[in-house]
Amino acid sequence: MYIPNENRYGSMTYRRCGNSGVMLPALSLGLWHNFGNITPYATQQALLRTAFDCGITHFDLANNYGPPYGEAERNFGRLMDEDWRPHRDELFISTKAGYDMWPGPYGDHGSRKYLISSLDQSLKRMRLDYVDLFYHHRPDPETPIEETMGALDQIVRSGKALYVGISNYGPAQAEAAIKELKRLGTPCLIHQPRYSMLDRHIENGLTDVLRKEKVGCIVFQPLAGGMLTGKYLNGIPADSRMAKDNRFLKPDSLTEDTVRKVTALKEIADARGEKLHQLALQWVLRDEVVTSALIGASRPEQITDNAEILSMPPLSEEEIQKIDSILK
Ligand code: NDP
Repeated sequence: MYIPNENRYGSMTYRRCGNSGVMLPALSLGLWHNFGNITPYATQQALLRTAFDCGITHFDLANNYGPPYGEAERNFGRLMDEDWRPHRDELFISTKAGYDMWPGPYGDHGSRKYLISSLDQSLKRMRLDYVDLFYHHRPDPETPIEETMGALDQIVRSGKALYVGISNYGPAQAEAAIKELKRLGTPCLIHQPRYSMLDRHIENGLTDVLRKEKVGCIVFQPLAGGMLTGKYLNGIPADSRMAKDNRFLKPDSLTEDTVRKVTALKEIADARGEKLHQLALQWVLRDEVVTSALIGASRPEQITDNAEILSMPPLSEEEIQKIDSILK
């Protein structure tokens, strides 16, 4: 039987999500990679246990995480029964729908039909009565925002999710969705965009919207899938994502410009006596508009290694400026 570390809440920092009542851990764990049928079940179990032992209370899923689609939710459901049932109320669990999930016209995009049936399927796979958070995974310009947000509102009112959020929406799309949800009486809890030292697009308007509307922000891929660990500076290690499961992280992402930036950033991390990925996580969390950094991990030690940032000194203004000049 799993007995969690009794000091788990002492070492983690929890940040308020927008102006809601929800506190999220500064680091959250995503199940996009390493929870499908190509990762041993024992590894998956160890990843979730280690995360929770570090005070990570938020686990992020989506209908199509795998491989194959649905498998991460199915594995999570099994782990729910084995480990997590007694701790359900200590966990904040999310899932999403918005990308392709099943064949035909009803298994993709942003219709009420797709979102509601997808969440019903997710709950069965995850062996849950409700999720804490349900997202529309990407904007769908072909479907009226009133329909998509109306579906999210209906989901909360039906008790199948406690909160709702949006992911990958641009600034104007996010503002429209937030306003429509407000009008319906179901506030948007959070936005989930990509953000890292190698992708700062959210600084061009999106963070302004979230700050103004007091909506939380959980940023995915803060380590750029592993590129911000420095592990690819001397070739592609055999046990890395790029070697083992490069569906989304191709060797051609290692451009000359990226290698130059990562090399220079590593010098700043070295000077602080830190690892590059620790610097990268501290950097995305430097602005309070970011509620949580949503990491992935292939080994439990990576999670404890990343959680060390919580006891490290914050970045100085001078370091932030140095990083800015490298990233220009
Ligand atoms: P990261 O940028 O955090 O990359 C994680 C990978 O980096 C790990 O799998 C591991 O790769 C490597 N790594 C992490 N920590 C360490 C460490 N301490 N030392 C060495 N290597 C390390 O994020 P992900 O790409 O995994 O995405 C995180 C989550 O974001 C997803 O699980 C998902 O929940 C969410 N997401 C959401 C999207 C959306 O559209 N809303 C899209 C994409 C992700 P390795 O295998 O090389 O060990």
